[in-house]
Amino acid sequence: MADVPAECNIKVLCRFRPLNQSEIVRGDQFLPKFQGDDTVVVGGRSYSFDRVFPTNTTQEQVYNTCAKQIVKDVLSGYNGTIFAYGQTSSGKTHTMEGKLHDPHQMGIIPRIAEDIFNHIFAMDENLEFHIKGCTERFVSSPDEVMDVIDEGKSNRHVAVTNMNEHSSRSHSIFLINIKQEHVETEQKLCGKLYLVDLAGSEKVSKTGAAGAVLDEAKNINKSLSALGNVISALAEGTKTHVPYRDSKMTRILQDSLGGNCRTTMFICCSPSSYNDAETKSTLMFGQRAK
Ligand code: ADP
Ligand code: MG
Repeated sequence: MADVPAECNIKVLCRFRPLNQSEIVRGDQFLPKFQGDDTVVVGGRSYSFDRVFPTNTTQEQVYNTCAKQIVKDVLSGYNGTIFAYGQTSSGKTHTMEGKLHDPHQMGIIPRIAEDIFNHIFAMDENLEFHIKGCTERFVSSPDEVMDVIDEGKSNRHVAVTNMNEHSSRSHSIFLINIKQEHVETEQKLCGKLYLVDLAGSEKVSKTGAAGAVLDEAKNINKSLSALGNVISALAEGTKTHVPYRDSKMTRILQDSLGGNCRTTMFICCSPSSYNDAETKSTLMFGQRAK
């Protein structure tokens, strides 16, 4: 697979997961028709992105095609954000994290951790480095980065809804901050990379949520639409006002979205006819960034 062209700063990639067992048992139809490597047709309408990954795409192909270059850029002092958008159970966490300790099934974050350390070890064994999170954590190997991810996961709020027994009703934001200082010249280089596994984008009504969970779901939908507005303003390129201040998340990501930053958005989709409406709305969200 060829690399995605580097000239545009917001890349939108679309990934479809395979039908799962219960969808097969229910007799759901497989909706997407893939055309070339950048177009998918769903319900007679075609959607084009920088790349479309069909269901058999491996974690390694996804990483090599779109995330690997970002690591190089962040090590060269650029900021970046990679995020995954889609309804619950569409493959966001699979794409961002995957199975952390499985070399084939691990997703983007553990691969980035390995790649960064490979670069660091290739640079200079005497370099000092650390990764700063909400609480400062010093790490010296990819495995220690995985431990930080595990810890973060166990802190993540999870609520039970109809969509999935463990629907994540929160965004997960993982920040890698890389500061380099040349020992002799004292020249400094800083780059940071946000890795964001967004909360499920499904409509509130479909989740069967009520009470506090419903309020939470409404807030999530608000912050997702604020993100959509920011991305689409950035993609248009002509807007003088980018509404970063409309949500907490876009305020946090402000200096790592758009401009000179490397922004990559994964649009994660279910192939099942059962999720037809959500898939179309997810594809439309992705189109707004083009
Ligand atoms: P989300 O984070 O969007 O709610 P998950 O990433 O947890 O969804 O995916 C839901 C289920 O589907 C998981 O069991 C995951 O392993 C599986 N899955 C997701 N994407 C793929 C894929 N591309 N290939 C195989 N299985 C996948
Ligand atoms: Mg998830």
